[in-house]
Amino acid sequence: MSARAESIVVLTGAGISAESGIKTFRAADGLWENHPIDDVATPEGFERNPQLVYEFYNQRRQQLLSDPIKPNAAHSYLAKFEHEFPGKFLLVTQNVDNLHERAGSENLVHMHGELLKMRCLNSQLVFDIIENFNFDTNCRCCRSPGNLRPHIVWFGEMPFHMNKINQALESCDVFVAIGTSGNVYPASGFYQTAKIRRARTVELNLERTSSGFDEHIVGNASEIVPKYFENLLQAC
Ligand code: NAD
Repeated sequence: MSARAESIVVLTGAGISAESGIKTFRAADGLWENHPIDDVATPEGFERNPQLVYEFYNQRRQQLLSDPIKPNAAHSYLAKFEHEFPGKFLLVTQNVDNLHERAGSENLVHMHGELLKMRCLNSQLVFDIIENFNFDTNCRCCRSPGNLRPHIVWFGEMPFHMNKINQALESCDVFVAIGTSGNVYPASGFYQTAKIRRARTVELNLERTSSGFDEHIVGNASEIVPKYFENLLQAC
């Protein structure tokens, strides 16, 4: 591990929320909660069957807001680390859940959108939402139905906050990827961008992925994340 890190970027994926009860995206069989990705996570799927897509994200939102779902030790330790680390810190999540915020993370960007937001297709304005919504829901800006979609980045769409993310990657000295399979572009290439400035790249995951990180730590996020970041704090 590199001592005295001054700038750290952390990327999280569905694996960090698995122990909180939210299923990961099954890249191997192309299913997300038993639905083919093409049906529920592409603009074409939304065009083909908007009702199915609204229902899918309504269910994900209601699951996220249900009692048993709460941040685990990995989310909590990342928030503690952010507040105690004296250098620069950016948390980039691919997750659409809000478990990092609930654990206390602040310097956080959701590159793939958020379940608790919806967007107007006319104005591109984004609104908070905890209830179900669909094609019949009146938009808060247009005052008419049919214009709202989940504020989720689907396959083929441009992720959010890419300028901020690339700037942080290009100037960090440690890059840590947690609970991500490395199957979704462009997040899968972040470690290579970080390496341009010779950052140390570390993967914390249940399984070792094929990509070329400098270090791989294998295990459950709730165990390996607190341990790894505690060591990093002690080295500061
Ligand atoms: P992924 O599902 O493709 O990969 C998850 C990775 O986490 C796998 O490599 C798996 O081995 C690992 N993992 C599983 N359990 C773990 C644990 N307990 N501790 C550590 N690692 C564990 O996830 P991805 O790379 O984030 O890509 C999925 C896409 O689907 C993302 O774009 C995301 O937006 C979306 N998604 C989000 C959520 C969520 O918000 N929680 C859930 C499912 C899918």
